[in-house]
Amino acid sequence: MSGLHASQAARAPGERIRNIVIVGGGTAGWMAAAAFSQVLPRELVNTRLIESDDIGRVGVGEATIPPIRTFNAMLRLDENDFLRRTKGTFKLAIELVDWTRIGHSYFHPFGEFGLDIEGVQFHQYWRKLHMRREVPGIEEYCVPAMAARHNKFARPAADPASVASRLKYAYHFDASLYAVMLREYAEARGVTRTEGKILDVKLRAEDGFVDALTLESGATITADLFIDCSGFRGLIIEEALKVGYEDWSHWLPNDSALAIQCASHGELTPYTRSTARAAGWQWRIPLQHRVGTGYVFSSRYVSDDEAAATLMANLESPPLMDPRLLRFTAGRRKQFWSRNCVALGLASGFLEPLESTSIHLVQVGITRLLALFPDMNFNPVEIEQYNRFMTSQYETIRDFLMLHFKATERSDSDYWNDCRMMDVPDSLRHKMELFRAQGRVFRYEDELFAEANWIAVLLGQNVLPESYDTLADRLDTVAVARYLEHIRTAIKQTVDAMPTHHDYIQKNCAAGPAVAVPGAAAG
Ligand SMILES: Cc1cc2nc3c(=O)[nH]c(=O)nc-3n(C[C@H](O)[C@H](O)[C@H](O)COP(=O)(O)OP(=O)(O)OC[C@H]3O[C@@H](n4cnc5c(N)ncnc54)[C@H](O)[C@@H]3O)c2cc1C
Repeated sequence: MSGLHASQAARAPGERIRNIVIVGGGTAGWMAAAAFSQVLPRELVNTRLIESDDIGRVGVGEATIPPIRTFNAMLRLDENDFLRRTKGTFKLAIELVDWTRIGHSYFHPFGEFGLDIEGVQFHQYWRKLHMRREVPGIEEYCVPAMAARHNKFARPAADPASVASRLKYAYHFDASLYAVMLREYAEARGVTRTEGKILDVKLRAEDGFVDALTLESGATITADLFIDCSGFRGLIIEEALKVGYEDWSHWLPNDSALAIQCASHGELTPYTRSTARAAGWQWRIPLQHRVGTGYVFSSRYVSDDEAAATLMANLESPPLMDPRLLRFTAGRRKQFWSRNCVALGLASGFLEPLESTSIHLVQVGITRLLALFPDMNFNPVEIEQYNRFMTSQYETIRDFLMLHFKATERSDSDYWNDCRMMDVPDSLRHKMELFRAQGRVFRYEDELFAEANWIAVLLGQNVLPESYDTLADRLDTVAVARYLEHIRTAIKQTVDAMPTHHDYIQKNCAAGPAVAVPGAAAG
């Protein structure tokens, strides 16, 4: 494979990128390969992926957020087939247990609360009644939250007038099966795969661009554009290009995880559960064939052995393996795109998995790269635009994650005391203060999480507005109460009529032999 040098190309404006090499075959590498194979015409761009079986993948990362559906739709994957092949389930929410205080739990659902009236947000009317203690919890006004609570699932109704249309969902899936599926997809569309360990990255003396990779076999591989999906180490972006890392561990203290898989147990829940523990939190991700679980913790507060004991004491069913220890540092690369290398996935940074945002960051990294796809000039203005966008994605997600730790009432361990007392970035402090005043929420430009997400977690963590938007007074208390009750009843009836999550999967996308349901039609 040959590669034109950007310095040569500078004399030939507009000259196309012809060869891409993706380094790494984890979720990030195969997502990139699949997307490129779908979007970039193979007669114009040749894509090659290198991965090492010896090094392997991180192998966790099984909960997602709703935009993953757009990614799969871009690939034109059939949703039922995708769920069957990845043994996936639907995800409507995250249940956060013991985060606010021990014994308390709430849902962070994928969907909005109630319906706004005349430009005033629903939660303002809710708070107006809540301040008089005249209203049930806000979850009762949210379809995905109530469906999650009752282990129900149905895809959203097409009719926008129906409350059943107000449901968003994502998936839980087996990460290794997703990578297999994407690999097949990409290879069928012309991506070539090379198995082998990269030992060296050669940079061009004249401009520091990546020139070639040397494999253990002695083979040399060149390309015009390199996508670094090599995992935490950042083989090209950090080890060769040395862009630097912005360390956020003072804001997101967890630096370790013990991951394990267990036998399926109990009802098939359509949500991820996150249970706060003394020095971190434990996840629970139900798949069709097993339950993924693990303890994310801070090694500053608990030893690996203590963390393992906590995890093993809190397994709900027999483990299928020994726990695997993973280490990480919260933060991001100072540049995501440098010269002719773009880092995706763990190579680009790490935000802990509490809100399942890593795969999403891979997705937006890919789609933004395609939107700013370079020519051989590697115009710095496009690179800067990409880096600005990804920086804002990382920073706004970081703030949202920090909210969960900062807004806690827990005081039962040094870990939670330190989280509660920590300084937060101005961007988060401002959001919390604004909400505390009159329940106002705003979204920074390009921010992933919407107002409804912030409202769910702020209220869930018991950050209560001191007052409500006075415009909510345009309806008197009786009218507001009647309106809220109408919504609550409509949601209850909708959720009551939904099948259970288990039955919905059996009918539409069961991985094993499906249980025959007479008269069943795909949903
Ligand atoms: C505890 C934990 C829980 C997580 N949970 C979630 C979640 O619920 N949701 C979510 O969205 N994300 C989650 N993530 C993040 C998610 O796992 C990753 O974003 C995702 O798996 C992508 O990983 P990756 O492809 O970047 O890296 P990896 O899976 O580490 O892949 C790296 C690849 O690079 C290759 N490689 C490395 N060095 C070389 C070399 N020298 N030569 C050749 N090949 C090489 C390896 O062979 C491998 O193929 C979690 C992460 C952790 C740590």
